[in-house]
This record gives sequence, C-alpha cells and structure tokens, in this order.
Amino acid sequence: MAALPLAGRHALVTGAGRGIGAAIVQRLKGEGARVTLVARSEDQLQETAAPLGEAAQCFAADVTDFRALRRAFESAAASFGPVDILINNAGCAQSAPLQRTSDELWHSLIAVNLTGAYHGIRAVLPAMLERQFGRIVTIASTAGLKGYPYVAAYCASKHGVIGLTRALALEVAQRHITVNAVCPGYTETDLVRDTIANIQKVTGRSAEQAREALVRNNPQGRLIQPTEIAHTVAWLCLPGSESVNGQSIVIAGGEL
Ligand code: NAD
Repeated sequence: MAALPLAGRHALVTGAGRGIGAAIVQRLKGEGARVTLVARSEDQLQETAAPLGEAAQCFAADVTDFRALRRAFESAAASFGPVDILINNAGCAQSAPLQRTSDELWHSLIAVNLTGAYHGIRAVLPAMLERQFGRIVTIASTAGLKGYPYVAAYCASKHGVIGLTRALALEVAQRHITVNAVCPGYTETDLVRDTIANIQKVTGRSAEQAREALVRNNPQGRLIQPTEIAHTVAWLCLPGSESVNGQSIVIAGGEL
C-alpha cells in the first residue's frame, strides 16, 4: 500500500479541541500526519484526540502566553519530532460597536487572534529554518480582507494576521517554508452559534432570523462546514502546493 502523503510529518494545530481546529486535526491525521492538539481546555482536547489513537497527542496552553506555548511545543516535539506543519487556528470573536469596544475587548482579541499566531510562529520557526522545511497556515477570516460592522477589533486582528502572513512568506520564500492564510466566511461552529445568540440578545430576533442574517452574506446561501476549511488547509500542506505562498485563500461561497 502506498504511504499516505503526510506520513512522517508532525502537524501541530492550536485551538484544536473543537470546531474548525478539530476538523483540521482529523483531516491531517487522515493524510498520514502525527498530530499535536493544543488549546486551553485539556478535557476537550482529550475528547477530540481519543479516537485518533497513538498518532495524536495533546497539550493544554493558552496562545497568549508565549512561554507556556513554547513549553507545550517543546514537549510535542520531544515525542513526535520537530513540527513540520503549524496551523494557527486558535481564535475568538466578540462584537461591539467601536464606541462601546472596551480596551479589554480590543486587547484580548488582538492578543489571541494576532499575537497568538505570532507566538505560534516564533515557537516553530527556528527549527523549520534549520531543517529547511515548513508549512504554516493561519486561519484568518473574510474579516481579514473586508470590513463588517460591529466587529472592528476582530477585523483588525484578522487583517493583522494576513499582513504577518504576507511579510513572513517573503522572508522564508527560499527556505522551503510556505506561509499562507485561509479565510473562511461564516462557518458552522460554536463561534457562530455564539454570534447567533448575541444577535438574538441585542436585536430581539429569533434564532432563525439571526442565522438567516449571517447566511445572507454567503452567495451560496448557507453556512460553511468545518471540513471544507480543513480540506483547503490539507491541500496547502500536501506535496504539490510548494509554490502557493503568502496567499489568503477565501472559502466563502463567493462572498468576496
Ligand atoms: P471555536 O470557538 O469553535 O474554536 C476555537 C478554538 O480556539 C477553541 O478550541 C478554543 O478553546 C481555542 N482558543 C480560543 N482562545 C484560545 C487561546 N487563548 N489559547 C488557546 N486556544 C484558544 O471557533 P471556530 O469557529 O472553530 O474558530 C477557529 C478559527 O477560525 C478562529 O481563528 C476563528 O476566528 C476562525 N474563523 C471562524 C469563522 C466561523 O464562522 N466559525 C469564520 C472565519 C474565521
């Protein structure tokens, strides 16, 4: 039987306990990679990793804490070898008109969505440069390429990771390392379920009306499934995608 395309590779996914991150973990494991799951909640990680058997391991760490994250990455590398593939997926969203965006909200979204990705990259880049191989994919958002009202902090953080992606892609272009972003539109996960609950609370609409307001952004008239995001992430990591570098790939049914 032919070896799977990512056999021998070690992929590390942040925010891997649920949603898009969990779908990416399953897909990369399916392509033959050993996978490390990182997120804040150990219980949820164990639940997601358990069915994957010995090819999966997990470590709890907050991406905003560089030292803790680096320790987790070091432990991951001690058992599965250096990280070949980093998926910066951990993220959070919270909405508020700019006038009512507190400093705390602003700093926390930038800390997780932008600085968290920077921390992940800092933790893996030295070994990737040394070994002259790496795939770095950050889950940004359509909000990294256009504005949406009432989510200025989220939009700013996601525009930031796209800038980070573009700059780093050029820095490492000759080192067999690619750096890309994937930009989903509204995708069916807990994050969007929370957004729907928030719209209901703020506007008094029903859950169905709130969901419909989000679905309307997608010309295909539906929420995207996490497996669709995982499919593009896997493609960026598979042999044959070496020339795709510094890109922000939109998965949004034609929204952009
Ligand atoms: P989710 O809330 O289901 O999952 C997010 C994961 O990130 C969770 O496992 C959570 O524990 C983890 N996480 C959050 N903060 C963290 C921190 N400080 N340290 C470590 N882990 C942390 O959300 P999701 O929809 O699966 O989102 C995944 C990524 O996709 C995020 O970056 C999000 O911004 C992005 N995204 C989501 C959508 C969408 O519509 N769902 C659209 C565009 C982009």
